[in-house]
Amino acid sequence: LKDEGSPLTVPTPLPIHQISLPTPWPAVGPVHVYVVKQDPVTLIDTGVNTPESRTALEDGLRLLGLALRDVRRVLLTHAHLDHYGQAGLVEDAGAQVLMHPDEAGKAVAPEWWNLGRTRALTEAGVPPETQQLMEHYWQQGRHLALPLHGWEPVADGQRLAFEGGELEAIHLPGHALGHLAYWDEAGQTLVSGDHLLVGVTPNPIMEPLPSGHPAGPPHAPSRALTLGLFLASLARVQQVPAARVLPGHGPTIAEHRAVAAGYMEKHERRLVRLADRLGVGVTPYQVCQELYPRVREWDVFLALSEVQAHLDLLVVRGKAVVEPGPAGWVYTAI
Ligand SMILES: [Zn+2]
Ligand SMILES: [Zn+2]
Repeated sequence: LKDEGSPLTVPTPLPIHQISLPTPWPAVGPVHVYVVKQDPVTLIDTGVNTPESRTALEDGLRLLGLALRDVRRVLLTHAHLDHYGQAGLVEDAGAQVLMHPDEAGKAVAPEWWNLGRTRALTEAGVPPETQQLMEHYWQQGRHLALPLHGWEPVADGQRLAFEGGELEAIHLPGHALGHLAYWDEAGQTLVSGDHLLVGVTPNPIMEPLPSGHPAGPPHAPSRALTLGLFLASLARVQQVPAARVLPGHGPTIAEHRAVAAGYMEKHERRLVRLADRLGVGVTPYQVCQELYPRVREWDVFLALSEVQAHLDLLVVRGKAVVEPGPAGWVYTAI
């Protein structure tokens, strides 16, 4: 008789531990990385590359009875400096690094990425001296990330196996084009990166696209329709039956559907307010200066990303038109 009683492997909740690491930005505060202490030992996000962050990571691992070399796998939610800066460190200690391929532009900065960034700023009407300042901050920021020697792509829906459990990658683009959350179904736990946060708003950040990428709107195929993607991802994350959401910053979230709904309402209100300002035709940079006159330094880029994202979505929704002007693209309400 054939043995039909062989046990099925039933996934069990994964032991996921939080370690908080300092960042150099007071407005951002610490970033949370997560250790899955089960074979293969996995680190979700890595913190920024500073001595303080490295010490905090090593201390946090030690408290779990682990060292850097015990980490076999790094899963990145996205390639912003506070999340991937030390991935190269853990890679050098022997781990494999995985991320969504749409994050490679930020992590590796190929030629199309650098050209696309300049192009996006020019089209937004950013004056050359302010563009140079942005470039300066951009270059400065690169020191906060170690280079990666290799990485493996993760796709939406991909299951990452552990001994006795698994994580499923869920692609939630918007804040970043290749943003992934990691879902432990057995534990009803979602590690959400910067897609869902309490206390800090995850802006849809401007992203250049390689030619032919489908994430661009018809009127601007060289950059992602970040807010449109973000709103769709918020609707998608509401379908995930999570009992707890472990974010990249701030407190653990119990009511993630309400957090997502709050963001959606905020953005819809902002779209209406912004459309009201477009009567005479303005560039994104002009809108940015009107709405955020006190914003300085790198925050100008974040504010501009926010404005650009809303304006592009207004065009896609048929509420505004856009045409090239002498000092940037001009958006007008219809
Ligand atoms: Zn981020
Ligand atoms: Zn972050």
